[in-house]
Amino acid sequence: MQGFIEKPATIVPTPNLQDYDETHKTFRWQDAYEKVEWFEDGRLNAACSAVDRHARSWRKDKIALYWQGDDKASKYTFHELSNLSNKFANLLTSSGIEKGDRAFIFLPRIPELYVSFLGILKTGAIAGTMFSAFGTEGLYDRLHDSGARYLITNSELKSRVYEIKDDLPDLEQIIIVDETDVRGGEISYPVEMEKASGTFDVAKMLPDDPAFMLYTSGTTGKPKGVVHRHLAIVGQHATTEWVLDLHEDDIYWCTADPGWVTGISYGLLGPWSCGASVVVHGGRFGPEAWYSMIDQYKVMVWYSAPTAFRMLMRASDAHKKYDLGSLRHICSVGEPLNAEIVHWGIRTFGLPIHDNFWQTETGGILIANYLSMPIKPGWMGKPIPGITAAIIDEDGDTVPHGTEGDLAITPAFPSMMLEIWKNPVKYAEYFRAGWYLTGDKAVQHEDGYFLFIGRADDVINTSGERVGPFEVESALIEHPAIVEAGVIGKPDQLRGEIIKAFVVLAPGYAPTDDLKDDIRKFVKTRLAGHAYPREFEVVETLPKTRSGKIVRRMLRAKELGLPIGDVSTLMGDE
Ligand code: ATP
Ligand code: MG
Repeated sequence: MQGFIEKPATIVPTPNLQDYDETHKTFRWQDAYEKVEWFEDGRLNAACSAVDRHARSWRKDKIALYWQGDDKASKYTFHELSNLSNKFANLLTSSGIEKGDRAFIFLPRIPELYVSFLGILKTGAIAGTMFSAFGTEGLYDRLHDSGARYLITNSELKSRVYEIKDDLPDLEQIIIVDETDVRGGEISYPVEMEKASGTFDVAKMLPDDPAFMLYTSGTTGKPKGVVHRHLAIVGQHATTEWVLDLHEDDIYWCTADPGWVTGISYGLLGPWSCGASVVVHGGRFGPEAWYSMIDQYKVMVWYSAPTAFRMLMRASDAHKKYDLGSLRHICSVGEPLNAEIVHWGIRTFGLPIHDNFWQTETGGILIANYLSMPIKPGWMGKPIPGITAAIIDEDGDTVPHGTEGDLAITPAFPSMMLEIWKNPVKYAEYFRAGWYLTGDKAVQHEDGYFLFIGRADDVINTSGERVGPFEVESALIEHPAIVEAGVIGKPDQLRGEIIKAFVVLAPGYAPTDDLKDDIRKFVKTRLAGHAYPREFEVVETLPKTRSGKIVRRMLRAKELGLPIGDVSTLMGDE
């Protein structure tokens, strides 16, 4: 088969999804509802499906969460997590929380974040998460738009909230997780948790009742408030099994912060619903810190993002000091995974990295390379069982294989968003002729695999040809001197647009004319004439969202002297 790579011979244990073709053909979501005991009288609560279910089983004393901070660590069994989140649910209830209230969490990755999230779900309120590096603008947008009534934060972060509190009339209760002596209007988590009962009558929710909401990454513009329902956990459970291939005995590490959807769907709900042990790294990214997590906790399944893998690739030898032999499966999401990274995975860990594609709106993985199937480096893979994916044109008709178009999905699956918060017009824009539109351009090969071309806004039109930035960026990073590249179209009288590449060099390389010449020659051999970047610029860093995505609209705006737009989710100096 063309473009595929062989996998290392030993895949242990047996992959969860063994016969993709047969499963994709026959699977119905109805089957998944029956597989695990999710429902009681047609109702469920995602926090119980994730944690309490195990706390009532033989997994009671199994470690659910290993938390590693910068200089301390702690661990929690399923029983302890269940008990603590019951206490938190009691705390919320006694302070007057009601079903449907929005309770937002603004915390670093500490155990209280996980306890609060589960506790909020148990009350029937809607949990929201915000990444701890957000400034006042990002906070205001989310708290104001969602009309959050509760906020859970800590002594360090709360000053940011007080800067904007006067403009947040709905925000009534602020819970501080690390102070016993709180000011008027605040609730002390340590004091109230101490008093609270560890039993709680968990709210039994309808499948379509909202459970959590979060805002998209803001890569293409202002983040949208996406609401997910309790039923979503059924989809997250199934995809955690199929794609992340989690088995009960796995030690699993998802590097995403719960401020982003990956950190919720696959950082806590999905893996816990499978009964796996989850590792959380509370500190910052760094090759040494990350490799030592894998070594110390004997991580077996690792889910991360291209931006992190590229940074690890840049720190070329850092892995050699650690024993990473526990790893058995690695997955990636968030941005296109360059073929180069898949090969680097094989060189470095003896394992290829498995790409998968999805969005905040879909609450769970849509398209993936599965453990049981050959990998086609640079391609996203095939749709999960229970959905159909297609490439469609402007009229909603499917286009022939090999033709670029809009990547669309059949929207009937459990983790599909319920709504865009208070914005039915925006929600309606996602649909065309019964399809859900991802807003991404892609191609499907006749072998069924999907190739990501680019976000609809990022695709370049040059000399009458359409070029996706991913293709050009992937060719660039194959050059040993380049670790990252961001590619944009720049208006040009003759060609419509020309391609401009911004590149970040690997340590030890200087932007000499010789190097630039060499890069030019190198990419010419890898790209068709029209896809070749006519302009290069060496930069120190690329603009990124805090979740690590390259923001090409920002490169474009700077290059063309245009307004920059929403920057609330972009990485700043910190
Ligand atoms: P916004 O919608 O606010 O502009 P965003 O789209 O980056 O931000 P997310 O929901 O976090 O917000 O990201 C989903 C998008 O990320 C996808 O639509 C796609 O563009 C990109 N993406 C995610 N995974 C992959 C992947 N494996 N390959 C290519 N692109 C991916
Ligand atoms: Mg998006």
